[in-house]
Amino acid sequence: MSINRIKKNDTVIVISGSESGKKGKILQVVSSRERAFVEGVNLVKKCLRKTKENPQGGITDKEQSIAMSNLMLLCPDCKKGRRIKMVAVESKTVRKCRKCGYSFDK
Ligand SMILES: [Zn+2]
Repeated sequence: MSINRIKKNDTVIVISGSESGKKGKILQVVSSRERAFVEGVNLVKKCLRKTKENPQGGITDKEQSIAMSNLMLLCPDCKKGRRIKMVAVESKTVRKCRKCGYSFDK
């Protein structure tokens, strides 16, 4: 069993692939497929049909999911993607930066 280390609303950095180096917030995790949607990352142009609400039609940017293995939690103290460790605090487990000990879970 693998621990789901990245959660919704986490800020992550992309560590490999064409989007490498981009940072963003997790919008949604697709846990069954081990993929996630990250704000502003892996954007694709999407054509909008002309509708009543949007009479102009046009093109919009839409996020596509990215493999979780290409993502790393961004430590706000180190300002870098960091490996994390799971630490038991009282009754719950929190995620901490391996380098500086920053706690990702309040
Ligand atoms: Zn850190």
